[in-house]
Amino acid sequence: MNPDVAAAHEALMHFLYQAPIGLMQTTLEGTITMINPMSARLLMPLAPGGELVNLFDALAPVAPQLRELAAAHDSPSGVICEALRVSIRPDGPPGALSQTLEISLLKISDSALMASVNDVTASVHLEQQRLTSHLRNVSRTDSLTSMPNRAVVLERIEHALAAARLDSHYEFAVLFVNCDRFHRLNVTLGHAVGDALLRLMAGRINTIVRLSDALGRAAAPGQTTARLGGDEFVIVLEDLRSADDVHGVAQRLIDVMAKPYGIGDHQVHATASIGVVLRAQVAGDADSVLQDASIAMREAKRTGGARYCVFEPQMKELAARRGSIESDLRRALAGDELFVVYQPIIKLDGGDCVGTEALVRWRHPQRGVVPPIEFIEIAEETGLIGQLGDFVLNESCRQFVQWQDALGGSAPVMMSVNLSRAQLGEPQLEANVRNALQTNRMDPGCLQLEITESLAAQDAHVQARLHDLKKLGLTLALDDFGTGYSSLASLHLLPVDVVKIDRSFVSQAESSAHHRVLIEATVRVARSLGMGTVAEGIETEGQAAVLARLQCDKGQGYLFGKPLPADLATRWLTQHAKAQLRTPADDRHARPAPIEQRLQYLQ
Ligand code: C2E
Ligand code: CA
Ligand code: CA
Repeated sequence: MNPDVAAAHEALMHFLYQAPIGLMQTTLEGTITMINPMSARLLMPLAPGGELVNLFDALAPVAPQLRELAAAHDSPSGVICEALRVSIRPDGPPGALSQTLEISLLKISDSALMASVNDVTASVHLEQQRLTSHLRNVSRTDSLTSMPNRAVVLERIEHALAAARLDSHYEFAVLFVNCDRFHRLNVTLGHAVGDALLRLMAGRINTIVRLSDALGRAAAPGQTTARLGGDEFVIVLEDLRSADDVHGVAQRLIDVMAKPYGIGDHQVHATASIGVVLRAQVAGDADSVLQDASIAMREAKRTGGARYCVFEPQMKELAARRGSIESDLRRALAGDELFVVYQPIIKLDGGDCVGTEALVRWRHPQRGVVPPIEFIEIAEETGLIGQLGDFVLNESCRQFVQWQDALGGSAPVMMSVNLSRAQLGEPQLEANVRNALQTNRMDPGCLQLEITESLAAQDAHVQARLHDLKKLGLTLALDDFGTGYSSLASLHLLPVDVVKIDRSFVSQAESSAHHRVLIEATVRVARSLGMGTVAEGIETEGQAAVLARLQCDKGQGYLFGKPLPADLATRWLTQHAKAQLRTPADDRHARPAPIEQRLQYLQ
């Protein structure tokens, strides 16, 4: 052999010997004619009886198709298969990783094949790891906000519980954050705006919690913010220096969440309520900690929203009671346990009864008569309010017309019906009101709907809704004036005909000059806007006299008559009208109902 050729041959052999890839040459039938050490190493586990003679025989258990593919390949050269992955079961200890080989087969002439074998176990393993971690992240991340999800929250709470078991000084807190009235915002502004709002809220929560990093004892911040779904967010603050710091964080969150959100053309106003569980109140596992935090959050909402509330064990009982009220209320609406009572509204100048307010009652088979304060809110939260409101509206319109027919001049000329905030979100409200008026052939001008002050002040959507209702020909009263957000200065913005001065002002009318001034101002402003005034909750003759002197038009309260069921209210109306007639016009003033009527209060 020529020395140059010999050197080149030597170099080639060396290269084939060293190559980190398996290379083989075989006949068309697969008989191995040349093989480098890497091939031998990779394929040996597959060799029948430890002898590598034929490539197709060796690969038959993992790639039986190779022999046929090679036979079917007509052309003198070309790729028969490329990067075919085969998996080799380990014969090592149980649990050992399987090995993945990548095999390529080329026809290099009409009598020879060339095969390459590559060990890709490591890169396959890496790919699998990446995929698993991606899937793991997906299953642990909320896709809307990219925050961790419920699984992570439960894990973090478990972690905190475990740490607390080992260290009696270990402090942690779980904060359950929920947007107030999110459902209504989502319905009125649309889901796209709702989603954007949730993303902005998530951002604000993250910022506040990041700013509070220094609260932790450990160097690594142990604070997790997460979204459970809907408008439910959770914050787990671990390893706190002091439980007292949590109050600051909660209040900062409340303040920040209440700032307006700019979404497209919208300026959205939203607030959040927070339930807090501190280590001291923790009982049970991660799930029950989360549940307790949500109970405290609902308590914060129940007491007005835009606030935080720290969990106390008795809240659990209360929540359970509310839960049982909810299921009972469904039954009550289907049956005939609800009824309406009527409270007279008196003209303070002259004492005539000019209207009645319809107030709902529930005759519970076990609990007796349940006052609305115990179930209206639950009806609102559970969506039962529409049905309930419809019942009260229909029943009171029917009663009103019946009084008109039966009592003539003694019948009230106005029926007031309370409208809950949740009802204003119901698309079919106007249709229902129109329907109640038409079925009962009631003059729309005799119906007054009472809405609470905080509700009317809210936003343009609510106001538009109120204008639509007014188009039906009815009037609107602003209930509980003085307790909510709107001020005298903004009264002119509200489409209401009557202002009802809240009982908290009336009850102090005799004793407090300050309250008298406020009442007088309310009456004056209302008058200047062409609105009427009704004083709520008049209990004493002294209060009636003060309100009359301050020029308030009408009054309502136990002094004149408590809310009475229809039959007793009919008697009251008749007797009151008679008494009015017996009294000379000059002596008439809003005087108390006869004592026996005042005692007939159905509770
Ligand atoms: P509201 O609309 O402010 O009704 C007046 C409440 O004050 C009634 O309580 C009434 O019984 C009570 N009240 C009247 N005069 C006096 C008084 O002289 N002294 C005292 N201490 N209280 C007096 P009630 O019937 O328990 O209703 C409570 C609230 O429940 C109502 O407040 C109203 O917001 C709501 N509500 C009642 N019925 C309905 C209804 O059919 N639908 C809706 N959405 N809410 C209702
Ligand atoms: Ca009312
Ligand atoms: Ca009221």
